[in-house]
Amino acid sequence: MKTDVFISGGGVGGLTLALKLAQRGVNVTVAERLTSKTPAYKGELLQPKSMQIFDGLGLFEEIEERSNEIKVLDMLELSSTLAVRDQSFLDYSVLPGKYNAAYMAHHEELKSILREAASQYPNFSYLGGATVKKIDGNAAHLQKGKEKLEVQADYFIGAEGRASVTRKAMDIEIKQTTYNHHFLTVTFPRAENFRDGKIISTYNRFLGLFPLPDNQVRSVYLIPEGDYQELKEKPISHFHKLYTDLAPSIDGYVQQLQDWKKIQLMIPVMFHAPSYVKENKVIIGDAAHAVHPMAGEGMNMAIQDADVLGELLADMAESGKRSPENLHWFEKVRYKRAEHVIQLSHLSALAYSFPFRTVSYLRTRTVERMEEDPILHFKQMLNVSGLGMWKENVRDRFIQGGIMPVRRSRDLTSDTKELKYFTREEDYPWKVEGLL
Ligand SMILES: Cc1cc2nc3c(=O)[nH]c(=O)nc-3n(C[C@H](O)[C@H](O)[C@H](O)COP(=O)(O)OP(=O)(O)OC[C@H]3O[C@@H](n4cnc5c(N)ncnc54)[C@H](O)[C@@H]3O)c2cc1C
Repeated sequence: MKTDVFISGGGVGGLTLALKLAQRGVNVTVAERLTSKTPAYKGELLQPKSMQIFDGLGLFEEIEERSNEIKVLDMLELSSTLAVRDQSFLDYSVLPGKYNAAYMAHHEELKSILREAASQYPNFSYLGGATVKKIDGNAAHLQKGKEKLEVQADYFIGAEGRASVTRKAMDIEIKQTTYNHHFLTVTFPRAENFRDGKIISTYNRFLGLFPLPDNQVRSVYLIPEGDYQELKEKPISHFHKLYTDLAPSIDGYVQQLQDWKKIQLMIPVMFHAPSYVKENKVIIGDAAHAVHPMAGEGMNMAIQDADVLGELLADMAESGKRSPENLHWFEKVRYKRAEHVIQLSHLSALAYSFPFRTVSYLRTRTVERMEEDPILHFKQMLNVSGLGMWKENVRDRFIQGGIMPVRRSRDLTSDTKELKYFTREEDYPWKVEGLL
């Protein structure tokens, strides 16, 4: 079998890339080892940049309709008696323009939307139940049931997630950072009017609640590393109480979960491959980088990788400038952006990793000041959104730390804010005449 672009892995990253290429007339084949939907939880929060990308692919309305819009993240810090000690709001509407909210969508449903959209194009092929075993030279070797397949291609894209076969074929080593905590994660019913995200913490506990469509809510609850087995031995009512202690409003809903088997363990890791490209092979998404889930960025980084690489491969095909050397543009655009998000997610993780009252105090003050200082608030939401990147400077850190006063009266105009958004030239710099 022969194709122009072979994608190993039909997750959100691989499918977004495939749809983009299919729409631009490039022959693309996706191999996915799964044969059906998986019950394993994965990323569900779509940040504004992802929605902008899906808009470009003609899917904004469909995804919006099948998701829950999140405008605000409600950050609650509780005292040791579980009374509210502080409340701050991180608000997506500080971002001007159409993409000023996040959206919670069921992961498998998002994959179905992308796959169905790509299937409309005759130049898209999908090999379900096909595991990529090895990639060498110009061929990928697949196993589909008892059948062995070989796919030849001009370019091979590794979108298989953390254990990437393509990364192995590229001989790229990664160094993984682990954390002192894990998460319990599960979805359960919610009240209809519970629509915004909620993060509730005490000095030694953390619960994140992210409403999904269909009156459901995805939750993540932090536990010390190694506590999972012991917890699972306890009656399910123990789990309910862990949740209702922190969020009394979900009393009556979380109890609808009656089986520990539904509650999954999520082990956060962080790594960033030293490079994404080697000859005609490229890695994207979790194959290239893994972030701590605290900032809800993993899936969005995969989508953003797919957008930039898809545009580049399609432009290379269209212009006839097909040399793999041009693939370095992908790394040039994406590497520093991904590194920034990885560091932001790592810092957020550290803020909740240590069960000390001083850490809780510093965290509360940082979030409070971020809400009060319009520039800090905008920077935070911009960086999280993926629409732009504006690093915090020493003054910002001093304001967060309480050493300098907040700039209450110094809000930015919409025009100034929009100047901080990535431009088309920054997203796709090779489009400038003569660069490709
Ligand atoms: C257990 C788990 C829980 C997570 N929870 C969250 C969360 O709560 N919030 C968040 O933001 N992020 C979360 N993430 C991260 C987020 O889901 C990922 O960042 C995102 O899915 C990355 O997309 P991807 O397309 O790069 O990889 P994936 O979504 O991992 O997709 C890779 C695909 O490749 C397939 N595949 C793998 N190997 C092969 C092979 N050899 N041959 C063929 N196919 C193959 C897999 O079956 C899969 O469908 C989680 C990740 C994991 C693993």
